[in-house]
Amino acid sequence: MILIDDHTSTDLEQLAENHYTLLTLRNNPRAGQVLGDFKAKSLVGRIKAKKAVSVAANEQQQVDFWDFLLDNNEAKLKELIISRPSRLKQLIQEIDQQFTNAMFSVNNSFTDASLTPFGTIVAEAFAYQAMYRNKDLCVTVFEQLRLRVCPYCNITPVECLTYTPRLSNELKRTALHQLDHFYPQSRHPYLALSFFNLIPGCPYCNGHLKSQMDFDIDTHFNPYDKRLDDHFLFEVNSTNADSPDLLEFQHISRQGSTFLDYALVDLEVTSRYNQWYKNLIYDMMNCIRFNGPDVGLSHMMQMPDVFTTPLAAHDSLLKGMGVPRNRNEINNYPLGKLKRDICLQMDMLVP
Ligand SMILES: [Zn+2]
Repeated sequence: MILIDDHTSTDLEQLAENHYTLLTLRNNPRAGQVLGDFKAKSLVGRIKAKKAVSVAANEQQQVDFWDFLLDNNEAKLKELIISRPSRLKQLIQEIDQQFTNAMFSVNNSFTDASLTPFGTIVAEAFAYQAMYRNKDLCVTVFEQLRLRVCPYCNITPVECLTYTPRLSNELKRTALHQLDHFYPQSRHPYLALSFFNLIPGCPYCNGHLKSQMDFDIDTHFNPYDKRLDDHFLFEVNSTNADSPDLLEFQHISRQGSTFLDYALVDLEVTSRYNQWYKNLIYDMMNCIRFNGPDVGLSHMMQMPDVFTTPLAAHDSLLKGMGVPRNRNEINNYPLGKLKRDICLQMDMLVP
């Protein structure tokens, strides 16, 4: 829904570089077995260990894949880890041409895929769960992204928690959100640790709905690639209905946009808005109807020290209802995009 870049002052390319450095850290003091000049627990060390097994088994195609990652000082491996989604798509195509995707995954349907035996070995080398998801690194990265709400649905908060468990004095940090692999691990296990393929999101979008769906940046919105606000608007069928049950939300293409997004459909975003949030939006619309610009003017006249202009009163009203005044604030508020678009429809905001 949102472009993550809009919500952070952190240099994301640099963060991706740091992510790569930490994954491939040489001389990691906590590492175990030494392999070449890499420790076995670093990503490169694990890939080299897997390559040694493929060499011993005389599996030439597997050896070629490991060399594809390792050649030229691990140039391709680094590209896979730090590239944006559009470049990742090209790399997937390159790997498919050179090795075929069937080497890694069995594509059963748009919603279902499973790893081949070699795909499982690749997943073990990348070790997403053990070496990233369960580590503090995952929390540190998230904190720098400054996300507040799931970037797919704009409904559910995503958060990390710092806490001291009962019966312990030790301060702990944990990520309460899920991490979505935009290009799923079950289809492309070599993208398990790719920085821009890891999207913090809610369990509804990631676990329940998207799961292994074969998303593509040309057909599905990606929060590291596009902002939905450039392409779609939500609208409500009536802004003065007598009952919330009569409301119906839909999403429509912005004039001039040719992007045909299926993420809103596949993640059932508009359906979820329609099933769960009619009451909340109905209350918001009523509040606007009964506290519009005239009331703002009245506030200003009654409380000139608090509201110095009608705009301040108006702004305070929208703020109180959790409506983002500009598009770069959409991720600060649950349902920010839906609320903002309906306020635009009611002429309460300047586009
Ligand atoms: Zn979500």
